[in-house]
Amino acid sequence: MSNQPIEDLERRCPRLGSPISFRYCLISGEDDDICWKVLDCWWETFDVENYLKANMPEAVFNELMKKADKPMNKVGSILDIVEKVKKK
Ligand code: SF4
Repeated sequence: MSNQPIEDLERRCPRLGSPISFRYCLISGEDDDICWKVLDCWWETFDVENYLKANMPEAVFNELMKKADKPMNKVGSILDIVEKVKKK
């Protein structure tokens, strides 16, 4: 990884359809909070979960974890659907 500050990293935003910086993700949620998709969007680029854990108040981080769209949650959801289909 380069020496570029993490906040300056860029990617295509699936919500906006255009390139944005990680800095924008930190303020693009409701009431200028962090975007709930931040883990899903950035986990392949850097260790976003640890970054947030180190840079957010613990209560805010824990709240984000509850509502975050994490890749593991998607896998879990798919497995749940597969199990339900198997039972039918
Ligand atoms: S975290 Fe939110 S604002 Fe940032 S790229 Fe993903 S969807 Fe867009």
